Amino acid sequence: MRVLVAGAGLGGLCLAQGLLKAGVDVRVLEREDGPDSRAQGFRIALNGHGLAALHACLPERLHALLAAVSGPLAGERRVVDQGLRELRRLGGVDAGTATDRHVLRGLLLAGLDGHVAYGSAVTGYTERADGTVEARLGDGGSAVGDLLVGADGVGSAVRRQLLPGARVVSVPGNAVLGRSPLTERSAALVPGYGMVVQGARASMLLGRMEFRRPPRLAAAELAPGVRLPDPGNYLRWVVMPAEPLPDGPRPWETVRAELLARLDGWHPDLLDLVRNADAVNSTPLTVRYAEPVPHWAGSRRVTLLGDAIHAMPPSGGQGANTALRDAALLARTITAVRQGTAELPAAVGQYEQTMLEYGFAAVAESLERLPDVTPAR
Ligand SMILES: Cc1cc2nc3c(=O)[nH]c(=O)nc-3n(C[C@H](O)[C@H](O)[C@H](O)COP(=O)(O)OP(=O)(O)OC[C@H]3O[C@@H](n4cnc5c(N)ncnc54)[C@H](O)[C@@H]3O)c2cc1C
Repeated sequence: MRVLVAGAGLGGLCLAQGLLKAGVDVRVLEREDGPDSRAQGFRIALNGHGLAALHACLPERLHALLAAVSGPLAGERRVVDQGLRELRRLGGVDAGTATDRHVLRGLLLAGLDGHVAYGSAVTGYTERADGTVEARLGDGGSAVGDLLVGADGVGSAVRRQLLPGARVVSVPGNAVLGRSPLTERSAALVPGYGMVVQGARASMLLGRMEFRRPPRLAAAELAPGVRLPDPGNYLRWVVMPAEPLPDGPRPWETVRAELLARLDGWHPDLLDLVRNADAVNSTPLTVRYAEPVPHWAGSRRVTLLGDAIHAMPPSGGQGANTALRDAALLARTITAVRQGTAELPAAVGQYEQTMLEYGFAAVAESLERLPDVTPAR
């Protein structure tokens, strides 16, 4: 049995790890040219579902490394105004652990050499008469398997063909995602889990990413051969201006100047975060989410996971956790098929039913938790 996975993101790679662990033949088709071809290092808060999925799918030798390259995610969240005066506290949380998306992706790639084909954008698929499915690639090539899993993120080409009526909606306005080095001064801003600034003309969310061990060193010691990036400790921030920034690609310096203009009068420590942001990992962000879809009839040779089916705003901290949960559930499902205790079409159908239920519940919850960007008065 051969499984094709479109997309080497968090969900697709976690699935590939789970399948390899069970001895299932898997090939991941990724449109990017390599694992580091796009800056994508932002903090990911991992909760119980995400962590359980990672532990289920990753080989045991990587579990200690995962813990070492994670960081604390506990304590209170303060809500302050633009002058850093405390407005209220959101109470204590002990919500799991934090890690960086780029680091986690590096960890998930461990041992997958030869199973991931970069520069392989999936553009569509054909279900063949012999029960197999052929994925078409942007370079004119193709790949054939018994199951195609669309793990190709919010703009999924697989979803567009499988569910042409499924709608992805953009939240009005836009945001800017930034990453600034964690210094003594910036660390003092966020003593606990995170901080919310409710200012005039904008809101800002801050989260602290403090690795227990520098990822590259930890890998060298705990899992030699695993190549991890070393981003250094940082503060992740997201600013949501009440008056949206212009659309379209612009150099970071332009975006930063536009943002600073909207934050006129804010506390100098907050402005310094924006000034000192890492230009490679800071970018404007459009928040998108998927509208619920009913369980579809028809193909069980093609399925979906993660943002490809239930994209959600990052406000709930659930997108990656849910993608990882899908991956672990689908890996278990496919393993049962391989072991002969389940049949492929029915088992995938059951996976989809369960996944759609908790996936769209997470979308609804994340939408409810979208921060209010109404300017403070
Ligand atoms: C600022 C921010 C903060 C976040 N914080 C959190 C958090 O704290 N906790 C949390 O749980 N979630 C968080 N999320 C959400 C999380 O990052 C996503 O939900 C998660 O990455 C989805 O995983 P995925 O595997 O489904 O898709 P992705 O990780 O997006 O991966 C999709 C992959 O498919 C590839 N691809 C795309 N199209 C094709 C194609 N046609 N063919 C082949 N490959 C293709 C892409 O290049 C990519 O590698 C956050 C998101 C943002 C933006």
